Amino acid sequence: MEVGMRTNIIYNTVLGVCRMISVEEALEKVLSYVEVLESEQKSILDCLGQVLAEDVYSTIDIPPLDNSAMDGYTLRAEDTRGASESSPRYLVVVGEVAAGSMPTKEGRPGTAIRIMTGAPLPEGADAVVRFEDTDEVSRKSSKGDLSHIGILCQAEKGLNVRCKGEDIAQGNLILKKGTGLRPQEIGVLASLGHSAALVIRRPIVAILATGDELIGVDQPLAPGQIYDSNTYTIAAEVSRYGGIPKILGIGRDSVQSLTEKIDEGLDADMLITSGGVSKGDYDIVKDVLAEHGEIGFWTVCMKPGKPLAFGVIKKAAGRRKRKVPHLGLPGNPVSSMITFEQFARPAILKMMGKKILAKPVIRAIIEDDIANTDGRRLFARVMVTRRGGQYYASLTGPQGSGILTSLAKANGLAIIPESSKGVKAGDMVDVQMLDWGEEQGEEKTLPIVSIVGKSQSGKTVLMEQLIAEFKKRGYKVAALKHSHGGMEIDQPGKDSWKFAQAGSDAVCISSPDKLAFIKNLDHDLNIEEIMPIVGPEFDLVLAEGFRKSKIPKIEVHRKELGNDLLCSPQELSAIVTDGSLDINIPQLSWGDTVAIADFIEKNFVLKSQSSGF
Ligand code: AMP
Ligand code: MG
Repeated sequence: MEVGMRTNIIYNTVLGVCRMISVEEALEKVLSYVEVLESEQKSILDCLGQVLAEDVYSTIDIPPLDNSAMDGYTLRAEDTRGASESSPRYLVVVGEVAAGSMPTKEGRPGTAIRIMTGAPLPEGADAVVRFEDTDEVSRKSSKGDLSHIGILCQAEKGLNVRCKGEDIAQGNLILKKGTGLRPQEIGVLASLGHSAALVIRRPIVAILATGDELIGVDQPLAPGQIYDSNTYTIAAEVSRYGGIPKILGIGRDSVQSLTEKIDEGLDADMLITSGGVSKGDYDIVKDVLAEHGEIGFWTVCMKPGKPLAFGVIKKAAGRRKRKVPHLGLPGNPVSSMITFEQFARPAILKMMGKKILAKPVIRAIIEDDIANTDGRRLFARVMVTRRGGQYYASLTGPQGSGILTSLAKANGLAIIPESSKGVKAGDMVDVQMLDWGEEQGEEKTLPIVSIVGKSQSGKTVLMEQLIAEFKKRGYKVAALKHSHGGMEIDQPGKDSWKFAQAGSDAVCISSPDKLAFIKNLDHDLNIEEIMPIVGPEFDLVLAEGFRKSKIPKIEVHRKELGNDLLCSPQELSAIVTDGSLDINIPQLSWGDTVAIADFIEKNFVLKSQSSGF
């Protein structure tokens, strides 16, 4: 076998050891072997989804001149003082100016010029009155004199005028290097007069299916054969994330066939194979690639998708040595797409110069029981729907890794951690949203901090002080309180109470400036369930209690209540104390509200703002 006679394939050991590695570790490795690609100058029409490789400054003002935002009459605002429908101001019409032409007359006192949207304002004119606010229509219908116009409203200076440079001022930085180009950025480039842009080029991804049982979709199906679907799923995935698929076709389970095919893919930026990486007899992808070196062959702690091959093929290309990262996905169609999503997708995005590589993950209530029997991270195919401000996820049917229709029905992957034995219907789960853009995962998470402490430690006093302090700093604050007893607003005799007594499951009371919602619950809500109800518009949520939740906590410690803490130090972000404790976490002084607020602001509020966009 002459592997490498033509291309000198050398498969380096990346991770020769066949131990089980975590999804994160595998991703980190894959990403460490791909680099941001070079940039290219190309037509803005072909740049959608690519990343800008240069800062773009404007050499022009947009709009280039003061111009009209309406069809109407342009005039001097002072000439309309006191004008109204009952007392019009009459002006002499001295001309007309249309979009695309320059005014030939000046805006002199006592005159008006008919003007169309987008047309430059004449010298001297400073406002535009819409046709609707003039007597033009009635003049026209009564075949009246059009050499004069009646203005029916008083115009302020600047009315319906778009000022020169109000959108883009000459000399300013308009689009930063690193910006992902969406249709609106492409429009901005066009408005600056750019027909081309310098962008990071798209990666070419070679795709090879392997297996003797596979047949191309345009061939008749013989007994024992199946159509090759992975090539198409992967090609579509590559295009979806901005790469250029290069389809190599089907490699047979022979060293010769695979070698030839892989050879054809070595001018790509990445090679993705599917199949032939598990322990089956004919699984020779790894053997072929190991011929001139060793293969990085992993067992990733995930299901589906345990076997995964990864390595770098070194190829002599002219005088330059190129390295082609190779990702060997499992053959089962579901495993192949799910592993693509976890490893190939971020690699492609990185090569394209994207900064946000993670798919958005949301919290949803799972509607089915899911067992996780073998201690791997389970990616379950789910359909996520949003009902009443809450996401729900339900399984899309049997979860076999060959059942591709379960993915076709899904819009997300529920992630059951390796440490979990499974979830029961009603539990909260993380769901990776397959059809959402990566940028959507960067939504601002609401900063939340809980003040915990023993009874009588002064939690409520600290809450009051912190709320006042954060209001003083200009923040919008929500306070959350867990009440073991009933609800104070739900008092006997009040209308809301009567409605509840009559059997209503929820009572909503709204007044012009407040809203309260009292709803019967079948369990004590956890913080994740409460937060969507609180809403997204706050800068900070300060909670009192909720000791068992996983949100950041600050414990109030008072000397007179003993030296022990309610929570273990690992669970705490800081303590507020009137003594001093021998533990290694930040200690803040009881009574120094400003310092406590500074700590919260720095560690939670500002941090969450900088990670958002
Ligand atoms: P393998 O990883 O090669 O053992 O393949 C695992 C399973 O996935 C087998 O049932 C294969 O028939 C199937 N499979 C492999 N490649 C493809 C493909 N390109 N399209 C559809 N099914 C495939
Ligand atoms: Mg196979």
